[in-house]
Amino acid sequence: MTGYHAGPGPGHGRRLGFLDYEEERHERKISDRALIARLLKYLLKYKRRFIITVVTVIVVSLTGLLPPYLLKVAVDNYIANRDFLGLTFISMILVGVYLTNWISNYQRTYQMLWMGQNMVNELRNQLFSHLQELSFSFYDRSKAGEIISRVTNDTDTLSQIFVQGVVTLISDIITLIGIIAIMLWLSIPLTLAAFSVVPPFILLMFIFQSRLRKAYRATRKKIAAVTSRLEESISGIREIQSFTREQDVIKDFRQANVENLQANVQAGKLFALLMPAVQIVGAVGMCVVLWFSGILTISGGITLGIVIAFLLYVNKFFRPLVDLTTFYNTIQSAMSAAERIFVTLDTEPEIIDDPDAIELSHTKGEIVFNNVTFGYDPAHPVLEDVNIHVEPRKTLAIVGPTGAGKSTIAKLLSRFYEPQKGNITVDGHDIQKVTLNSLHKQIGIVLQEPFLFSGAIMENIKYGKLDASDDEVKQVAKIVRIHEFISSLPQGYETDVGERGARLSVGQRQLVSFARALLSNPPILILDEATSSVDPYTELKIKKALAVLMKNRTSLVIAHRLSTVRNADNIVVVNEGRIIEEGNHRELMKEKGMYYRLYKKQFKDT
Ligand code: ADP
Repeated sequence: MTGYHAGPGPGHGRRLGFLDYEEERHERKISDRALIARLLKYLLKYKRRFIITVVTVIVVSLTGLLPPYLLKVAVDNYIANRDFLGLTFISMILVGVYLTNWISNYQRTYQMLWMGQNMVNELRNQLFSHLQELSFSFYDRSKAGEIISRVTNDTDTLSQIFVQGVVTLISDIITLIGIIAIMLWLSIPLTLAAFSVVPPFILLMFIFQSRLRKAYRATRKKIAAVTSRLEESISGIREIQSFTREQDVIKDFRQANVENLQANVQAGKLFALLMPAVQIVGAVGMCVVLWFSGILTISGGITLGIVIAFLLYVNKFFRPLVDLTTFYNTIQSAMSAAERIFVTLDTEPEIIDDPDAIELSHTKGEIVFNNVTFGYDPAHPVLEDVNIHVEPRKTLAIVGPTGAGKSTIAKLLSRFYEPQKGNITVDGHDIQKVTLNSLHKQIGIVLQEPFLFSGAIMENIKYGKLDASDDEVKQVAKIVRIHEFISSLPQGYETDVGERGARLSVGQRQLVSFARALLSNPPILILDEATSSVDPYTELKIKKALAVLMKNRTSLVIAHRLSTVRNADNIVVVNEGRIIEEGNHRELMKEKGMYYRLYKKQFKDT
């Protein structure tokens, strides 16, 4: 039920997480009506269940309305007339009504749960699939925590509140209309007497509503602060420990946590006040009815049975009224979650296949950049007028200071971003005119910090070629000289590398990623050489493995090693987004320009 228990309470705040900062900051852009229409489509997919639910809701509500009336009949018709048979009969009907209520209530709850969980399931799958297609620029703009929260919390909040909200709304409306109709039918004056407490009740709800909303907002903000501190401390644990900042972090966290506690206690206090207040209004309503019915009975207007029925109906009246008055609030947090989900789902991938895109296959690996200009923000280019030509099977080393634009060149070749001016071709084909899949199959990427997925080493090496045999894996591992190490592990190739490959050293991770690239055997290789130093023994291994890896394919290397630049067929020097020198090692040394200076500074020690 929504209402008392599942309003936008502290529990929901906890699940919503820190995204509510966003909720607070921006007004929602999509109207409630549009969101609800879209959400209903999800529910209507389960048409049969939805109909069963609606029918059971109606049955539950109607069977809930009957008992007071049946009691009236029992009192007025049978007890008053000492009709024992009739009383037995009506008692059995009463039991039947309760049984029907119980069974349909079970069905209603079960179907609601089923639809809610299936909706979560479907939304999560849709979001996850969609996220796989979104371009790098989307991830540049978004925070990982926010995306995760969308897929986990938002879907959950949304479907729970939405499904329950719809069901409760139907049931509340039926109940209220039913109660009012029966009451009016039984006695119009007594109904008017009972309604005398409705205005004070609405005033009460009005006063509590805005305070409760503020209090719950505060709890959501505070739990957001707790979550973000937790998240940062987990990702930054190495820095925290190496700079011995543990105590400060703990202090910060305690502060956020205690504020969260206070906010929750405050909200709880308000909530605890509301319930008795509602009960008091209800009790006053009953007293008014009782007192007024006294007058009416004396004047002969109504029977004892009607009085009893009225007292019970008045008692039932406030619950749906509380639900309905809190409904707007409750549904708002679902709507915010819905909006975040739909905005994500509606984000178009910026880079998609051209309708006439062709499949690129068996490339020789000739790469050309023609006057390429690109900026992550188009107003601020980070590459300007870049021209590069790499012959098939040759190695181009890219050197230059940090932030010069070296990695950006590599990202453009993979078409993770698109240049604002100029174009890039592979074997003469503009990469914007070939399918992304086929382009990526031609290119292998080995990054400075190779990313390994948690799971077996075997699986990690097979990542780029799923149908490879175990023997093939072992062969490439031997070539890059990591086989011996892997075999020495107790579980060999089945050893779990841990999250991001954390259980392997940096050098080992690199060698595994080399094996992975070698196995997929792409005609083009993009290599971002690691700057982090490893021990001389591993360094030697890496150097030899790299030589094997680069053999017989076109390689674009962001070079940090002397051996790489020396052996490269061609070197470009990038500075502030422009290529300022080009040639091989010997030529560039002669020029005594930036390469010469970089070489002296960067490579001399090694
Ligand atoms: P390098 O590899 O030479 O160190 P990069 O190509 O990574 O340099 O970066 C070139 C410039 O582009 C830098 O000024 C950097 O701050 C900026 N940059 C890199 N990646 C992004 C990104 N995803 N969003 C915005 N700016 C970026």
